Amino acid sequence: MTEIKCVGCGSILQTEDKNEEGYIPASGLHKEEPICQRCYRLRHYNEVQELNVDSGDFLTMLNSLYETDSLIVKVIDVFDFEGSIIPSFNRIVGDKKVLAIINKTDLFPKSTNVSRLVERAKKMLKDAGITANDTIAISALKGQNLDVLMKKISDMADGKDVYIVGTTNVGKSTLINKLLEDNTGLKNVITTSNIPGTTLGMIDIPLGDTQTLYDTPGIVVDSQISHYVKTRDLKYVSPDKEIKAKTFQLNSEQTLFIGNLARVDYTEGGSNSFSVYRNHHLNIHRTKTENADEFYDKHYNGLLAPPEIDEPYLSQNYDKFEFKLNEASDILISGLTFVSVTKQAKVTVTVPKGVNVSVRSTIF
Ligand code: GDP
Repeated sequence: MTEIKCVGCGSILQTEDKNEEGYIPASGLHKEEPICQRCYRLRHYNEVQELNVDSGDFLTMLNSLYETDSLIVKVIDVFDFEGSIIPSFNRIVGDKKVLAIINKTDLFPKSTNVSRLVERAKKMLKDAGITANDTIAISALKGQNLDVLMKKISDMADGKDVYIVGTTNVGKSTLINKLLEDNTGLKNVITTSNIPGTTLGMIDIPLGDTQTLYDTPGIVVDSQISHYVKTRDLKYVSPDKEIKAKTFQLNSEQTLFIGNLARVDYTEGGSNSFSVYRNHHLNIHRTKTENADEFYDKHYNGLLAPPEIDEPYLSQNYDKFEFKLNEASDILISGLTFVSVTKQAKVTVTVPKGVNVSVRSTIF
């Protein structure tokens, strides 16, 4: 049988096994634009079907990139920098040209200095060991800066194929849909959602007679907070519109809970301001540090929800990070929040085990 791909996610369609990737009832296979059952449900009912695909398969697919002569476009979520980094990136891309895209800039306040943001992103990429030939900030969702992006892609690719890569949820499919819409008038060809792992196979889109643009499967990284949240609750965690800060004036020995997924203890320092940037659905609670353990165990699925969590991560299955901040700094909790602290401080941050926490000098 010739291989037919799902137009939504790129999986090879099959009619044999409902629980495997690309399943389509035989009756749907001969439609003009066949889509697999998983994409169908996602589109029409916003419902996700669990599948047996592991990240090893994704990596194998990405490894095939190494053999190609192409331009690599690496998409990064401005709000989840750590979670956007593909661990073996340099090995996968070899010596190809790389264009780094900083996506979702609409999440930052309009007053954000974009060129400063790009400079910061370059430094963070360098620190993460990623060498990019050029870096550009865009919003795929709002269509911001896409014309400049297309021009850069065209100049840098110089007729070669283009591969869009990234970890899950950084906005690759949204970007490609927008580019397709702008260039062909077609709408929502690729399935997008806030559910990690939506794009399963490689999707190829002709750019001209000899040039092709490929959307690659997202790599799942364990440090992403989405692993700890039920699919239906992701909307409370991943920010979807401009993030506004909520600011607290704290004294030492006070604690902030960011929903039920992070806890920041202010352990040492004078009166200080903590601004929390996060999805506005996440409740923030201030307590005395001495009462924080008890407060969490009592309220983790009550006052501190949403999201609803399966276990009290912060008291049973957690990682603790201690930081001494010597200047105005942001504490980044991968995919969940960043907290800007204006003065010197010592803080302890508790998160579900495996989630990444880091510090940078303040971005605003
Ligand atoms: P992929 O897994 O990398 O293909 O990511 P998707 O394109 O499916 O997007 C993941 C989530 O991020 C979806 O909820 C999108 O609506 C959202 N998203 C993508 N691009 C942007 C953007 O530029 N701004 C904002 N605010 N959200 C975005």
